[in-house]
Amino acid sequence: MIDFHCHVDLFPRPEEVIREADSRNIYVLAVTTTPKAWSGLKLLLGDSARVRPALGLHPELARERESELCLFDDLVSETRYVGEIGLDGSPAHRGSLPAQKRVFDAVLQSCASAGGRILSIHSRCAATEVLDALERRPEAGKPVFHWFSGTAKELERAISLGAWFSVGPAMLSSMKGRDLALRMPKDRILTESDGPFARISSRAAMPWDVGVAESILTSIWQVSKEATTKLLKGNFKTLLS
Ligand code: MN
Repeated sequence: MIDFHCHVDLFPRPEEVIREADSRNIYVLAVTTTPKAWSGLKLLLGDSARVRPALGLHPELARERESELCLFDDLVSETRYVGEIGLDGSPAHRGSLPAQKRVFDAVLQSCASAGGRILSIHSRCAATEVLDALERRPEAGKPVFHWFSGTAKELERAISLGAWFSVGPAMLSSMKGRDLALRMPKDRILTESDGPFARISSRAAMPWDVGVAESILTSIWQVSKEATTKLLKGNFKTLLS
C-alpha cells in the first residue's frame, strides 16, 4: 500500500508509526510543514526502507515562516520530494494569501532551479491560484494534488496540466470527494492518509488506513480489489521513474 501524504513527525509517537508502516510494507511519503522540521524528520526515519521524507513549507505557516525560505533553498538538493506546499484560501487563512503566494512561488522557483521535484500540494479553496502558479513554472516538477477539493472545472485544468492526485479516506467519505476521484485519470491516482490531521471516526488517520481509500476506489471504479492494488502500485512506480 502507498500513503503519499502523511505527517509522520506530528504523531505523538512517530517512531511507532514508522516501525508499523515498515512492518506492514507500506510506502509512506512523510511530508513536513517547515524546512526546520527536515533534520528532525531525517533523524526519526533513520534507515527506514519505505518511509521517505519530503521537504515542505505549509501554506498555513507561510507568513510566519517566510524566513525559512533560505533553509529550503539549502536543503532542496537533498531530496526528490517536496511537500507540503501550496496555497490555502479558506476563511481562516485568506488573510495571509499574499505571503503564501510569495512563499509558494519561491519554493517552485527553488524546485525548478534544482531540476524539478515531486511536489505534494495543498490547494484548499485556492485551486485556481495554485494552478496559475504551477502554469508559470512548469519546470518545478511533477505536481501531486493532495486531497483535491476544487471544482470539476479546476480539476479538468489540473488534469490537462499533467497533475497527479493523492486521495484518502477522509476525502472519499464525501460524495463530492468520490465524484472528483471518479473524474481523475485512473493512471494518475495515489492513496494518502494525511494523518494525523485527517480523522477517521474521530481518531487520527494512520498510514495503514489507506486500505479504506483502496476499498472505496475499488467500489467506485467497479473493478476487483486486485485490479485496484495493481493499478495503484503501477502508478507509484510510474511517478517515481
Ligand atoms: Mn497535510
